[in-house]
Amino acid sequence: MGDSSVNLASLSGKHALVTGGSRGIGYAVAHALLAHGARVTIAGRDQFMLDGAANSLGAEACAVPMDVAQPQSVKDGFALAKQRRGAIDILINNAGQVSSQPFGKTDEETWQRTLDVNLSGVFHCTQRVLPDMLTSGWGRVINIASSAGLVGYAYVAAYCASKHGVIGLTRALAKELATQPITVNAVCPGYTDTDMVRQAVSTIQRKTGRSEQEARDAITANNPQGRLVQPEEVANAVMWLCLPGSESVTGQSISISGGEVM
Ligand code: NAP
Repeated sequence: MGDSSVNLASLSGKHALVTGGSRGIGYAVAHALLAHGARVTIAGRDQFMLDGAANSLGAEACAVPMDVAQPQSVKDGFALAKQRRGAIDILINNAGQVSSQPFGKTDEETWQRTLDVNLSGVFHCTQRVLPDMLTSGWGRVINIASSAGLVGYAYVAAYCASKHGVIGLTRALAKELATQPITVNAVCPGYTDTDMVRQAVSTIQRKTGRSEQEARDAITANNPQGRLVQPEEVANAVMWLCLPGSESVTGQSISISGGEVM
């Protein structure tokens, strides 16, 4: 049994990389990792947003440009992160996108782009970090999937397929690495209070003519607690998986959804 004591410096000496760390859930996770003593690199496409986020996160945060859907961009981004702050011990595969339309109106480009970002992005980024985790003898891979990885939702077939894929990848890799001190888990938020949901509200308004409040009510009606999940609640689950004491948890898909999925 390892030392399961948790304090604010529990992740001191660890380097965490959070894809999509410039806002929303990724930003909340980056903030929590820093609060526990990790060095944190955030990655995303918009350099201006990244720099602003890194500045507000503080001196222990660093930003690297990366499009997780582009293998060369992922290679370059991880090489830069390693050069600046050392090998990655904790990978948070958080970058993601959604677009909604009926299945019959889902075009090839939307389908492919959604899979490239949400699923292949996890594959590319995880391949970059595993060799160093195996060498150092410690690692945490946490994939931000979704309740849409556990159950189906109408009008988001590509998103559901990509997130179900992330959960399959999580389970397979956890089993493959089970004899190593590396855990691989998925965290599955329900509707969470970020730009992604703000965009979903505008889409519902545009497509149905509902008011903003009606559109928000339609979204929160999915959650038995009648509210949006807060990004910090997702970050808390991620932290539990990173901190000492959760070593036996691997291959899991943890729903953070106010009971929407049970
Ligand atoms: P968000 O507010 O829209 O932020 C998305 C983040 O991902 C941004 O930092 C964005 O930065 C980055 N990103 C998007 N595409 C990228 C790409 N190709 N390469 C690199 N970075 C990229 O989203 P969020 O709500 O925080 O969602 C974070 C994760 O949680 C996603 O995987 C999402 O599917 C999942 N999730 C969200 C909810 C929800 O209700 N909000 C529910 C369940 C699961 P750039 O645009 O600058 O690249």
